[in-house]
Amino acid sequence: MKKCTKCHKVKSKSKFYKNKLIDDGLNPRCKQCEKIRMEKYYKDNRKKLLEQKQEYYNSKRKQFKIKNDRYYTEKREEILIQKREYYLKHRVKILHYLYEYMRRPEIRKRTRGNRDKRNKRQRAYNKQHPELIKEIKRRRRLRKKQLFEDFTIEEWKEKVDATKGICPICRRAYSEVYPFVVTLDHTPPISQASVGFRYTINEIMPMCGQCNLAKGASF
Ligand SMILES: [Zn+2]
Ligand SMILES: [Zn+2]
Repeated sequence: MKKCTKCHKVKSKSKFYKNKLIDDGLNPRCKQCEKIRMEKYYKDNRKKLLEQKQEYYNSKRKQFKIKNDRYYTEKREEILIQKREYYLKHRVKILHYLYEYMRRPEIRKRTRGNRDKRNKRQRAYNKQHPELIKEIKRRRRLRKKQLFEDFTIEEWKEKVDATKGICPICRRAYSEVYPFVVTLDHTPPISQASVGFRYTINEIMPMCGQCNLAKGASF
């Protein structure tokens, strides 16, 4: 039996928490008083304790971010391949979703504004650096020649036939959309493909001219 220093009641030893720092190995206060004390402490220090908790999580988050960043740098190549494979598999769904998204009035307004600003800046820059533009164009022509298409016209025709005359992205008939023909979309885009890249039929898909153009500009 032991007497609680708070409520002064004599209680059995099981009613006290263990505490190695005390001679008899038990807390001076009984469990019930201890509970009341802790509740009061939490209530009085609520704000401070929440802040501490938040700080703890923030530091953990930082650690997590570092770990995450390291993971992505190490696995960069692998992730890029995975992403490209995922895109190739689901590109119709992805591009159609983007098409719908870009058509939303608020998005259209924003992208048009951004595009105008960008074009204006670009034009001003081009005017000041004519020799650079020449070089870029020359390189682009050069690059284009080093890309290959490893598929037959029959394979391409088969792909086009499968779309039944409807652009898979905007779901309009090719005959309704300027320039009224099926165009050939490359993944990765010609501008981004590494030198000597060989496009197979899997990396090619038919779409209308407008979607192809829009994809390059804003998708
Ligand atoms: Zn007590
Ligand atoms: Zn289209």
